Amino acid sequence: MTRSIFMDSSIRRLPGIGVRREKLFARLGVTTIPALLQYFPRDYEDRSHVVPIGRADLERKEPVLVCGRVGTIQEVRPRRGMTILKVVLHDETGAVEMTWFNQPFKKKQFHTGMTVSAFGRIEWNYGRRQMNTPDVEEGEPQGQGFMPLYGLTDGLRQSDVRKAVRQALTLARTEQDLLPAPCRPTSHSRFPLVEAYEMMHFPKSREEQEKAREQLAYEELFDMQAGLCLRRRREGRRQGIKCGPNGPLLKQFFDQLPFALTRGQTCAFLDIQNDMEGEVPMQRLVQGDVGSGKTVVAALALAKIVENGYQGALMAPTEILASQHYEEFIRLFQGLPVRIALLTGRTGARDRVQLLEDLQSGAVQILIGTHALIQDDVQFAALGLVVTDEQHRFGVRQREALQKKGRAPHTLYMTATPIPRTLTLSLYGDLDISSIRDLPPGRQVVKTYAVGESMRRRIYAFMEKTMKAGQQCYVVCPLVEESENVDLQAATALYDQLRTSVFPRFRCGLVHGKMAGKEKEAVMEAFSRGEIQLLVATSVIEVGVNVPNATIMLIDGAERFGLAQLHQLRGRVGRGSLQAYCILLAKKGSEETRQRLHYMETIHDGFALSEKDLLLRGAGQLFGYAQHGLPDLHAADIIRDVALLSEAREEAASFVNGHGAEEPVLRALKRRFGGSFQKLLNN
Ligand code: ADP
Ligand code: MG
Repeated sequence: MTRSIFMDSSIRRLPGIGVRREKLFARLGVTTIPALLQYFPRDYEDRSHVVPIGRADLERKEPVLVCGRVGTIQEVRPRRGMTILKVVLHDETGAVEMTWFNQPFKKKQFHTGMTVSAFGRIEWNYGRRQMNTPDVEEGEPQGQGFMPLYGLTDGLRQSDVRKAVRQALTLARTEQDLLPAPCRPTSHSRFPLVEAYEMMHFPKSREEQEKAREQLAYEELFDMQAGLCLRRRREGRRQGIKCGPNGPLLKQFFDQLPFALTRGQTCAFLDIQNDMEGEVPMQRLVQGDVGSGKTVVAALALAKIVENGYQGALMAPTEILASQHYEEFIRLFQGLPVRIALLTGRTGARDRVQLLEDLQSGAVQILIGTHALIQDDVQFAALGLVVTDEQHRFGVRQREALQKKGRAPHTLYMTATPIPRTLTLSLYGDLDISSIRDLPPGRQVVKTYAVGESMRRRIYAFMEKTMKAGQQCYVVCPLVEESENVDLQAATALYDQLRTSVFPRFRCGLVHGKMAGKEKEAVMEAFSRGEIQLLVATSVIEVGVNVPNATIMLIDGAERFGLAQLHQLRGRVGRGSLQAYCILLAKKGSEETRQRLHYMETIHDGFALSEKDLLLRGAGQLFGYAQHGLPDLHAADIIRDVALLSEAREEAASFVNGHGAEEPVLRALKRRFGGSFQKLLNN
């Protein structure tokens, strides 16, 4: 194996980068030459040709590139504390006056007679051509083409980054190791790597840049997918718990199920059944909108593992959810020979000891709980299935900690925050997906209206009428976000106002994040029993709470919430057969806000909404993306490049599964993505 003689790839190797610049670059997340080469421009300027100064079209608003000799240099001080630097630039066709305000240090950069190229917008001012604060470089224009625009930080100029990148590219021509290269050439590898990088930073045209970007994006995605395939292949090699076909326990479970499964639920369970009866451990994500009935699917999977002589665990993100699951399981398993237990942070010490004992002996077959499940002393006799509800609320680590309590147990993740179908397969390269796209019958669409402050009184009147008719309402308070305390104050104030002056004749309650778990639960339970008619809440209303008699969800300050969250909140109502309403009380906001609220009014399907959400917010915000330990992408855009992603996934899979060696793949991944992705793969 040949290695670069220069093992050191720090940017300090580049001329002109000392301690000071190194620190500045570090702020951009750039400390090594490979990182610098992957620090792609955020945009480009057209500097493909020099425009004669005298013929610059003054009507055009676009900045232009000019080149000439410096004439007079003048600094004027129109008043105290203000300086204007005026530098005249001549070419054969005319002259332009370049101006800078309050940047006296600029003066040093110029001397009469030097050649300078300048890029900026030319305006006609007081009968003269002027260019305000142009971007100047000494000499003839360097980049003949599109000039890159990089994200900057205070103290670092475009020209600094450009210069550093140029030097890095020069080095990379002789030291190929400095360029993150795909683990092997792909079907999209058209240009030699150095050239592709060069075309990305200093393209001659938009077309050229796009070609290079496609190649680099593809190679990046290819590597990522190769890594995920590798991980999957390793997991596949582990022997799973091979379950037998469904027996009497499942039959009994089905027989006493109070409803027929929806198509989506049936398909999801068929997938699960298939996985569990197979040779390798199940790794499946079940996506389904709020209310689509994921719990019963989990119960079926757990029944199956119990029938095969193993134990199962169900982990939920909150106490309330865990105990709701527990109660539902008790109902679903009524009369069946299955022992179910609940373990949360609030399980009493004595009960806990007994429970852990029964768990270790195998007497408890299904354990439901919160994070409490991952504590060290929670030990199973034979854990065969781990279910994580609302999986995005847990980190990779927590989920894995639970898995490690068994030997290669089957795993099932459930989420109500779907990632668009177009993305899931490729993004979660290592998970199988089942989507429940239908809702149990009889559910009505929650009528959703976005309204302004002027409607508040009328909304209150509507709520009053509804509560008089025996139904219940939620009011979610504006999210202030500065601190939980501020949120709490806002919630308390609204609660007091509603309780004392707006709805004095109704029973109101308040829940917020600062409440102790017990207290919170008491309020939620009172609401659930109908003792509280109107529940004021900060955004903590727990996902999954089920109160079918609640029919109005008023979200105050709806402009502050994201689509995913609004949709989750809306899912709290419309859980029975009564018509339900979601009212989004919002201040007039940006175009994006207006769009978001409009989507809420018109789209009721969580999958479709999540696609819109992605478009509005961009990949960086992709819910759950980071939690999955997936790496940052530089050239690729996970949303724009979905087609490339699927193609890369296929090619990577046939490569990884066709060849044997892991070493080159791992090496390429390490160089490209660094340690964190590596960790994910080694888990
Ligand atoms: P989620 O997918 O949001 O977790 P749940 O599992 O909490 O949804 O189910 C919501 C409600 O729908 C529960 O009250 C559950 O009993 C009910 N339910 C689930 N499946 C069906 C079905 N096939 N038919 C009728 N009701 C169902
Ligand atoms: Mg649920």
